[in-house]
Amino acid sequence: MPGTEFPGRGRKVDNARVITWDAHACLPLHPQADLAPLERFRAAGVNYVSINVGMDLNPVPQVLAVIAGFRQHLAAAPERFVLASSVADIEVAAGAGKLAVGFDLEGALPLQQLPEMVALYRDLGVRQIHLAYNRNNSVADGCHDAERGLTALGRRIVAAINEAGVLMDCSHTGRRCSLEIMAASRSPVIFSHSNPAALVDHGRNVTDQQIRACAATGGVVCVSGVSIFIGSPAPTARDVARHAAYVANLVGVEHAGIGLDIGFSQDGLPDWGEGPIDSDFWWPPSAGYHDALARIAYPPVETWRNLAGELRGAGMTADEAALVMGGNMARVARIAWRG
Ligand SMILES: [Zn+2]
Repeated sequence: MPGTEFPGRGRKVDNARVITWDAHACLPLHPQADLAPLERFRAAGVNYVSINVGMDLNPVPQVLAVIAGFRQHLAAAPERFVLASSVADIEVAAGAGKLAVGFDLEGALPLQQLPEMVALYRDLGVRQIHLAYNRNNSVADGCHDAERGLTALGRRIVAAINEAGVLMDCSHTGRRCSLEIMAASRSPVIFSHSNPAALVDHGRNVTDQQIRACAATGGVVCVSGVSIFIGSPAPTARDVARHAAYVANLVGVEHAGIGLDIGFSQDGLPDWGEGPIDSDFWWPPSAGYHDALARIAYPPVETWRNLAGELRGAGMTADEAALVMGGNMARVARIAWRG
């Protein structure tokens, strides 16, 4: 979009510290999942990726087994992977040609209604948490459920997330509830994988009001590459750039990021964890998931190679594209993680 003026234009990037950051990806939720797909992120120039270790639909023993399995697989390949605790760790890993990895939780149920569980998960490698996965729970509202707002327990958990030095995420969260979380958080808040509802009208996408509130916290809206949320049956880097440019145009380029949310299936392993899952509950047909789940498509990991060019094509300078591809998330993580 030639002639586009991004608010915040002119911000200079220190190229020595630029890192690329994918705020969300999903391997099969199984301790034996093959981490080989992570090698593709490294090869595509990504320096940090956050991978899901559990959702509201997974019982705690399953979440812990996944964390144990992923930690062991990462530790077995120290020449390629680092479990990052800080942005400094990511910078060191990037300098050595390694991929830094962090874990994220999708939903507060694995916390078992105990704010003190946040610090425990942090010590196990969890660097980012959102409070509800599509449906309401005792802590917060999901984006496909009745609006109630953040509960009293939810306020204590937001404080615990801030205190523990974990990124407060609002993807999958109810709209009103997300606004209340953003008002309550003392650290910048992110949407790790959410697209503008103004471009694709879907309950999982975020309104301009949510995007503005996120920017007001100093945070970042990371756009996903998922077909049904990005509005393309075969998502490309150009689609991702268009959604990121929308956020940049609305609230400033320093508040746009990338969380492609690529899901990797592997033969013989369940994507969502062992055991039966009530898919109509977690992905309600009323929200348009009935056929969409079968048709879901992701951009290839190698999309990362084309993103800078497509962001430039969407009107950004090279420095602005670097902010969107990771500089912004590094800024926010330095504050939230305190390092
Ligand atoms: Zn998700």
